[in-house]
Amino acid sequence: MTRPFPLHAGIATVVARRALTPRMLRLTLAADAFGDPGIEQPGEIVTLGFAGPGEELVLPREGWRFPPGGPEQHWRNFTVRRSAPADATIDVDVFLHGPAGIAARWALHARPGDRVGHAGPRTHWEPVADAGWSLLAADETGLPALQAIVEQLPAGHRTIALVEVQDEAERAPVDSAADVDWHWCVRGDAAPGTSTVVIDTLRTLELPTTRGQCWGGGEALVMRDVRRHVAAHLPACAGAVQVLGYWKHRATPESVDYT
Ligand SMILES: Cc1cc2nc3c(=O)[nH]c(=O)nc-3n(C[C@H](O)[C@H](O)[C@H](O)COP(=O)(O)OP(=O)(O)OC[C@H]3O[C@@H](n4cnc5c(N)ncnc54)[C@H](O)[C@@H]3O)c2cc1C
Repeated sequence: MTRPFPLHAGIATVVARRALTPRMLRLTLAADAFGDPGIEQPGEIVTLGFAGPGEELVLPREGWRFPPGGPEQHWRNFTVRRSAPADATIDVDVFLHGPAGIAARWALHARPGDRVGHAGPRTHWEPVADAGWSLLAADETGLPALQAIVEQLPAGHRTIALVEVQDEAERAPVDSAADVDWHWCVRGDAAPGTSTVVIDTLRTLELPTTRGQCWGGGEALVMRDVRRHVAAHLPACAGAVQVLGYWKHRATPESVDYT
């Protein structure tokens, strides 16, 4: 049965914050709804809502509808990195990309007791039953989902994971029963969304020609290039590709072709 969306919407409270790396912050959020969050797959999404200065946060109704005539609402997607129904909490890992974004700015200053809107969950990844191997690609925004997926892959499952990070301090592999080759693609001095390190690395890899599944989450143009590479070079993966843009670089024109 299709779940209603959002299944739950409300106000969550920050109960803990912890720096995972210099640029990745883990926030633990508590809300009654997280006691039965309805999560079915690794890497499901929760959408967090932020009130602008002097604005009131309005919660979405079913079908993502807001009452007409209200203030502009600011909702951003995050991955549920860990769900703990027993204490009605979830963890989200926020990439601190800078002060330009309402969510990243809020997270930078968020402290226990602070409140944030929540709505969700939404499935983002479905394992493909006949996939004999996996190709995963992400930047820091997709890393929490990639980690959640890797942790749940079956024992011995051949997996190639490419992750774009700023520098070595951001590497964050996780334990897995799968057979994972991690490729940390360091963009160095380049700004997020301006580097070709992921696609450059992908082009150098000898990948299986058998049927596999491909998942990706990161900057929209980088993910487009991953999709194009997979379509051109991995025909056996057709129909098993879930590679999505998670955010758009501000310099990308609206007219760009994402196909
Ligand atoms: C399904 C899904 C799951 C996601 N999960 C996570 C997650 O677990 N953790 C996480 O950190 N993000 C995650 N994201 C990405 C996150 O929603 C976006 O980065 C979002 O734009 C951040 O909101 P903001 O208010 O900080 O910035 P916005 O107000 O949306 O953007 C402001 C400016 O910042 C720029 N910007 C936005 N994101 C970045 C970035 N990553 N690097 C550099 N510049 C950026 C924009 O281009 C824009 O110019 C996910 C996105 C999707 C679609």
